[in-house]
Amino acid sequence: MRDIHSLLHDVFGFSSFRGVQEDVVARTMDGHDTLAVMPTGAGKSLCYQLPAIALDGTAIVISPLIALMQDQVRSARANGIRAASLTSMTEDWRAVQDAFRQGELDLLYVAPERATTDGFGRLLEEGRIALFAIDEAHCVSEWGHDFRPDYRLLRPLLDHFGAPRLALTATADKRTRIDICDQLGIEREGMIVAGFDRPNIRYHVVPRQGLPSQLKRLVAAHEGPGIVYCPSRAQTERVAEQLRESGRPSAAYHAGLDKNVREGNQEHFVESEEMVIAATVAFGMGIDKPDVRFIAHAGVPKSIEAYYQETGRAGRDGDPAEAWLFWGAEDFARARRRIETEVEPERRNAERERLNALAAFVEAATCRRAILLRHFGEDPPETCGNCDNCLAPPETIDVSVVAQKILSAAFRTEMRFGIAYLAQVLGGDDNEKVRMNGHHAISVFGIMDADELKLVRPVARALIARDALRADDFGGLSFGPAAKAILKGEEQMVIARPPARASRRRSRDRADYPHDPKFEALREWRRQLAKEEGVPPYVIFHDSTLRAVAAMQPDSLSALSTIDGIGEKKLERFGPSLLKAVEELAC
Ligand code: ADP
Ligand code: ZN
Repeated sequence: MRDIHSLLHDVFGFSSFRGVQEDVVARTMDGHDTLAVMPTGAGKSLCYQLPAIALDGTAIVISPLIALMQDQVRSARANGIRAASLTSMTEDWRAVQDAFRQGELDLLYVAPERATTDGFGRLLEEGRIALFAIDEAHCVSEWGHDFRPDYRLLRPLLDHFGAPRLALTATADKRTRIDICDQLGIEREGMIVAGFDRPNIRYHVVPRQGLPSQLKRLVAAHEGPGIVYCPSRAQTERVAEQLRESGRPSAAYHAGLDKNVREGNQEHFVESEEMVIAATVAFGMGIDKPDVRFIAHAGVPKSIEAYYQETGRAGRDGDPAEAWLFWGAEDFARARRRIETEVEPERRNAERERLNALAAFVEAATCRRAILLRHFGEDPPETCGNCDNCLAPPETIDVSVVAQKILSAAFRTEMRFGIAYLAQVLGGDDNEKVRMNGHHAISVFGIMDADELKLVRPVARALIARDALRADDFGGLSFGPAAKAILKGEEQMVIARPPARASRRRSRDRADYPHDPKFEALREWRRQLAKEEGVPPYVIFHDSTLRAVAAMQPDSLSALSTIDGIGEKKLERFGPSLLKAVEELAC
C-alpha cells in the first residue's frame, strides 16, 4: 500500500489535502463508516477516490445521475485511475464486470436502482469491495431536498458486505444529516462537517434596474463561463438571446426545450470556456464544471439554502468567482402571494420565515458571507473582505419616517394605489388624477420634500421585502403584518443608501488576472488538445494549473510535476507537449 500523501501528489498532483479531506480519507482507510458533509467544490470525490486506489479491491460508488457518473469516470481516468460505470449508457458491460471480478478496477459507479438489484449483489460476491461511497447521500432522507426512494434500499446491501461506508453530501441542514446517518447505519460520531465558507466566491446583491443592461455589463466584465438563473422558461430564452446579441456565446436551458436541444446546449456549456447559459433552476444538478466564473440570479431564489447551492456552482476550481443577485420587490410580492394561496396552511409559517431570511439578506448593509454562514450555524468573522458590502461598505440611513409616510399614504388612499401614485400624492403633485380622487385634500398630500421623495422607491422595496406592504393583483399596495410596528414607530427601519446612479461594475477577473498572453497561449494549446481528445478543456488541466505553468515556465518534466494539478498520469500524457508549448512561449 502506498502512502496516501505520495498518492495525493503522484495521482492527483496535489501538494496537500484541503480542509477535512485528510480526516475523511484517514477514517475510511481505517475501516470506519463516515458521513462527510462538504460544500460543493470542497473536493468530495477525492475523499473516496484516494482510498479506492490505496486499498485492495474496488470502491463501489453509488451516484444518482448518469451524466455525473460519466463526467467522474472521465476525470478519474484522466488521472490514470481505473474507473468504470455500469449504466444504460455502458457499452462494454461484460468487460466492466470481468474487470471487477479480476480486481482490475479502482472505482465502479452505479445508480442506486441498479445497485439494489439481485444481479448486482451477485456480481459483488464475485469480486473484492474496498469501500462503498454513497454520493449525494441526502437523497436517502425525506428531509433532504431531493428524496430518492431507491436510496432507502441500499442499507441491506451495505450491511451484507460490511465494507466501510462513506456517505457524502453538500446539504446544510442538520436534521437531514442526522437522518442520513440513521438511514445508512453510520454512527453519528462518524459525521465530519466541513466549514461552509467558499472564500473564492465574491457575493454581490443589487436591486434590479434594467436587467438586460445589468446582465450585459456583468457578462462583458467576465470572460469565463457563467450561469444566469432565471425565474421563468421564457426569460431564459430572452436572456440568452440578449447576450448573444451582445456578442457572447449563449444558450437557454429549461425543461420545456426539446430534449436534443437541451442536452446539446448543456454539452456545449460544459465544454466551453466562455459560454453563458441562461437556465431555470433545473440546470446544475449533475454538472461538475469546475471553471464556472460567475453565477447570476435574475430574480430572488427560493431560499437561502437554494441560493447557496446555486451560487456554489461557481469557482469549484478554487479560482476567483462571482455571484450576483439581482432582486426586485415584485419577487418578494409574488413569493408572498404564492405562500398565502398555494402553500398548505400548516407550512406557511416556515415558508414565511424562509422568505424573511432572504429579505434580510438582500437588504443587508453588513457582510453577506457572515449572514450566509450564520444561517448555516457557523460563527464567522464580522467581515470577509470579499463581498460587496465589505469592499464598499454602504452608508446606512434611518428611513423610519419615510416609511411611515408611505404607509400612511397607502392607508389614506384606501390601499388602492401603487407606489408611483403614492409618490405623486406625497410629493404634492397637484395633477388631474390626484384631484379627481380628491387626494389633494388629504393630510399626507405634499408632506415629503425632494430628498425624501428620492427614497420612496428603495423604501417601498424594503417594505415589500419585509412584508409591511403587499402588492395585490390590481396594482394596489396594502398592509402586511409588519406594517403596524413601523407605522407606530415601534420598529426602526434602516436601509443601505441606494447608489446615486447604477455604478459601472469593473471587471474583477481582469483586475486580479491582468491579461497574460502566455496564459492565453497555453489555453490555446489546451483547446487544441481537448479537441483531439474529445474532452472538455478542464479535464486536461484547470486554469489555475495553466496559470502556474505560465508563471513558472518550467523546462523539465520534473519541474512540471511540482505544479498543483499535474499528477503522474497527466505528466506522462501531456507533459512533453506542454513543455513544447512553454518553449514556444519564449520565442
Ligand atoms: P465536490 O464534489 O465536493 O463539489 P470536486 O470533488 O468536484 O468537489 O472537487 C472540486 C475541485 O477541487 C476539483 O477541481 C478538484 O480537482 C479540486 N481539488 C480537490 N481536492 C484538492 C486538493 N487537495 N488540492 C487542490 N485541489 C483540489
Ligand atoms: Zn463580506
